Amino acid sequence: MTASSEASQATSRLLAVRQRIAAACRASRRAESSVTLLAVSKLQPTQKIRELHAAGHRAFGENYVQEALAKHAELSGDVHCHDIEWHLIGPLQSNKTRAVAETLHWVHSVDRLKIAERLSAQRPPSLPPLNVCIQVNISDEASKSGCAPLEAVPLAVAVSKLPNLRLRGLMGMPAPGLAPEATRAQFALLAALYAEASTMVPGMDTLSMGMSDDLELAIACGSTMVRVGTALFGLRPAVA
Ligand SMILES: *Cc1c(COP(=O)(O)O)cnc(C)c1O
Repeated sequence: MTASSEASQATSRLLAVRQRIAAACRASRRAESSVTLLAVSKLQPTQKIRELHAAGHRAFGENYVQEALAKHAELSGDVHCHDIEWHLIGPLQSNKTRAVAETLHWVHSVDRLKIAERLSAQRPPSLPPLNVCIQVNISDEASKSGCAPLEAVPLAVAVSKLPNLRLRGLMGMPAPGLAPEATRAQFALLAALYAEASTMVPGMDTLSMGMSDDLELAIACGSTMVRVGTALFGLRPAVA
């Protein structure tokens, strides 16, 4: 494809996803502005980020720390793309927290206090607090990422007390390939934990759930942020 047809493809995919979000909000009698879109650019070349940025999008999510840092380094030096908001949505090991705390804007995958404490201690005072979500394992053992549902509210309370973090809410991912009713039950579990945590921690505003295939269901269950990759960028190249 030529550069201009790729740019128009980015614009039309962005419009199509925004229209899906708007329709899902209407179906649930929610304001369209109550759901934000995070573009998941993992494994996609930075050119695709530039195209979506040129189409007006600003929030991008990455799964792998090294890849996130490399893309951030490349695009923050670009006069056009310096205003990207970078989200880490994949697992974070403790030996990688410093670079993340110094560089990115959001981490959705905090699943233990030790990681949160390191991020808070390593967040430079010159930067605004790092936005974080607690990742909860709602998929009933299908995934090893995320804290257990029973740990989510106490962990949220503990994380909310750390000085250089701003706890925004909870994140979760249902097991892949479930029937819609089973997916709905896992979204509903996360929404219930979010409601419970909100009674203990004031000021949270983010229920991060829903992806390309299930964003309508997630919005019906209360999602305030959908993380969408394939529907915006097409299929991902395979992991090396
Ligand atoms: C890859 C990924 C997504 C996006 O998935 P799509 O199906 O491509 O929309 C969202 N959230 C997380 C945590 C992911 O790893």
